[in-house]
Amino acid sequence: MSTWFRRVRKNILTSTQEKKEAPDGIWHKCPECKTTHTKKELEDHFYVCPKCNYHNRINSAEYFDIIFDEGAYEVHFENIVPKDKLGFVDMKPYDKRLVEAQASTGLKDAMTVGVGKVNGQGLVIACMNFNFIGGSMGSVVGEKIARGIDYAIQHKLPFMIISKSGGARMMESAFSLMQMAKTSAKLTQLAKAGLPYISFMTDPTTGGVTASYAMLGDINIAEPKALIGFAGPRVIKETIKKDLPAGFQRSEFLLDHGFLDFIVERQNLKQKLSGVISWFMNNPVQEPVSAAAE
Ligand SMILES: [Zn+2]
Repeated sequence: MSTWFRRVRKNILTSTQEKKEAPDGIWHKCPECKTTHTKKELEDHFYVCPKCNYHNRINSAEYFDIIFDEGAYEVHFENIVPKDKLGFVDMKPYDKRLVEAQASTGLKDAMTVGVGKVNGQGLVIACMNFNFIGGSMGSVVGEKIARGIDYAIQHKLPFMIISKSGGARMMESAFSLMQMAKTSAKLTQLAKAGLPYISFMTDPTTGGVTASYAMLGDINIAEPKALIGFAGPRVIKETIKKDLPAGFQRSEFLLDHGFLDFIVERQNLKQKLSGVISWFMNNPVQEPVSAAAE
């Protein structure tokens, strides 16, 4: 007997439903353990899953609220906005992509600079926003880091970058790559002023960001289980044709191999930072001695 109708794929409906993220509303489903919590519960818990400790990705506004005293801070350099200098078109024109990203996030670009106090001590933070074109590093990101450093030097304050980025912004091509050299040079000026640079890596910190400012901290710290690396694990695996060790490119692996000073859970972030700042302000960073000067 021939069958006219055959079910090619089973459970079509179920698999489609599973793929859907929980809709924006009062509930949040943990991407790791699939437990559901209310948004309020999650917010009270620093956006960390109360059941499995998964650190959900958050942006500058949330980090500033967590770190700065009474959630009070000033946002600087918001007049710096991105431009489509190359008339770049991929899936869509870059200038259109920028307008859409600005409308959906309410942000000007992937970097926000906030100045405030941490247990009474001043701090300048440049924090990346992953929701703005994957936290990609364009000219505005680099320029805001540069201005943030100038501000820190002028006011004798420590400087921190919170990295969360897919890497370079390909729509800005060489203008994006130039930010690696520019930010590295500015960090040297900060060190010459005896002021510390705290690099805080969160999930994910990859590409040109890892290859420049993320790994240049006087102290390099990270959130638990954050992906940190240059090329992604899949690319490396395909290149070297070998299986990678368990936990490769995660914070814990990097700590074991000497790339990080410590890992900090978000609920302890403010206390830990406060300790780091007071230590550095009592033990100023030494001016780097270049090989040529020796
Ligand atoms: Zn969870």
